[in-house]
Amino acid sequence: MNFEETPSSRADDRRQQSEEKGELNVSHWRGDLHAHTGGTIENPATPDEVLETRRGSNCGHIPLEVLARYHDKEMVNEYLAITEHSRDASPGIALEGITNWFLGIRLQDSVWLEENIGKPKAEIPEDVDRVKELIQDDVELVATYGDERLQTILNDIEQLSADGMPIKIFKGVEANLLPDGSFDTGMVDKGKFELVNCAIHPNVDPDGFAEIIQDPEQYTDLVVKGMQHPQTNIMAHIGYGLEPAIVEQLDWDEIAQAAQENKVAIEINLKELMMFIYDEVMDYEKYPKTDTSWRDYLKDKLPELIPILSSEAIAGRLKKYFSQGLMIAINTDEHKSKFIDTKTTKDGVLSGFKERDKRFWIAMKIVERYFNQLFEQTNISQENILNTYSVEQVEEFFQKAA
Ligand SMILES: [Zn+2]
Ligand SMILES: [Zn+2]
Repeated sequence: MNFEETPSSRADDRRQQSEEKGELNVSHWRGDLHAHTGGTIENPATPDEVLETRRGSNCGHIPLEVLARYHDKEMVNEYLAITEHSRDASPGIALEGITNWFLGIRLQDSVWLEENIGKPKAEIPEDVDRVKELIQDDVELVATYGDERLQTILNDIEQLSADGMPIKIFKGVEANLLPDGSFDTGMVDKGKFELVNCAIHPNVDPDGFAEIIQDPEQYTDLVVKGMQHPQTNIMAHIGYGLEPAIVEQLDWDEIAQAAQENKVAIEINLKELMMFIYDEVMDYEKYPKTDTSWRDYLKDKLPELIPILSSEAIAGRLKKYFSQGLMIAINTDEHKSKFIDTKTTKDGVLSGFKERDKRFWIAMKIVERYFNQLFEQTNISQENILNTYSVEQVEEFFQKAA
């Protein structure tokens, strides 16, 4: 007989202990339904090398295979959805950053400079301007990519699953909803994804969104339009980029009703929370091992870090819909992780995982307690939380079957 304690048997125990107390536990969370991958070869010698090796979202840092392995082995999840941005969510910032990156590469390449501007060094501002013109096309291919980037990741997911990756990897997308209510990729309507996270990123079209993000009525209408798309499964981070006062003024009754009618889950996005845990709580220089003052700081910050449900005004209005089955998805919107080291070289992808230490788990306990309070106040039970569903149940939800 084998009495070995496996990570999943420990998770079962933790789940059971919490259920006896009528609470939910971090191990009820069976997988992330919003995550980004990314990666580029280390120290590329040319923009072409970037173009050839670039994967995932421009803002992602972890290669697909590494992220999947981490969620399988370390987090012992049952599934993970890869939801790359359909197009860059902040194209202005991407264009600027990648221009500077490629400029740096080319200005150091005396052979290329000799060939293209007739001298081995760009000495005057006019030379630099000429180099900028010459790199423009490559910059745009990387910064403002199109469907080809999405298709590549779908192919990579299929390959990874065919190679025997044990956890289910959902082929998802974070599709940008434009001011007119359409998506910026035709791949959604073609049914290329198992999961569509519909997202409003005002930076995609700052002029087009300027009025909408100031007007609760117009923003509500757009959210509803997004949820009415037959392919939308999760409405991601409602209120992202808006003033908190405007978010509270949205018509949450209309949003909840549209979500229920269209079988869409409302996302509780934990990107800010995870960043705070990585950058603040886990800062051992700021809080040495014996210092526990971070605990109270985290507790005080939680209402700010956990959107929608932390607002009494919003949660109060959503409460009755939770009793009627309104769904939420609690996602990390992961772009990078404190616990994953990785780099891509010409020979392949290297990676190492760091153990999640005691402080991380204490932080998780604090977060767990806070969530349980919110759940109790708002009548949220396990059935309302998509990430507690099994793979089959999640698939059924995505299919919107009656
Ligand atoms: Zn987003
Ligand atoms: Zn995202």
